[in-house]
Amino acid sequence: MAGDAFQKFGDSMNRAITKLSVKTSSSFEKSKIKMHIESLTKDVQKMLTDIGEEVYSLWLNGEYSVQSLSEKLEEIRQKKDEIEQLSAELASIDDRDNAILGTKAEAEQKAESVAPQKMCCPNCGSEYEPAAKFCRKCGYKLQ
Ligand SMILES: [Zn+2]
Repeated sequence: MAGDAFQKFGDSMNRAITKLSVKTSSSFEKSKIKMHIESLTKDVQKMLTDIGEEVYSLWLNGEYSVQSLSEKLEEIRQKKDEIEQLSAELASIDDRDNAILGTKAEAEQKAESVAPQKMCCPNCGSEYEPAAKFCRKCGYKLQ
């Protein structure tokens, strides 16, 4: 639908918009999946708690058998499977985004360019990391 409009923009603008829309739709997609995972996880936790209560009361009455719980246990397994699938989906969205946007490479490059610039101790001239409080060589207070 936006094909014509996009043609008015320069290449870089076009790419920026594409990146933005990919990011926006992905984060929306991801937050939906995350919410789904969260609610499934809550379900599973509640079901496990319920089963625990049930096992306990069955055991109290001497009626405990795994058979009577198998339906619920199966349901829990299905939910856990679903959580796993959703997590895999999340990971694949990240992979896809990284493939489209090159964000991983960009992020790595960025990290590299911001990476520790060496500073020199004003006292003895030896290099220290920006986070260092004292010079490792002479103990001079750096911050
Ligand atoms: Zn020093």
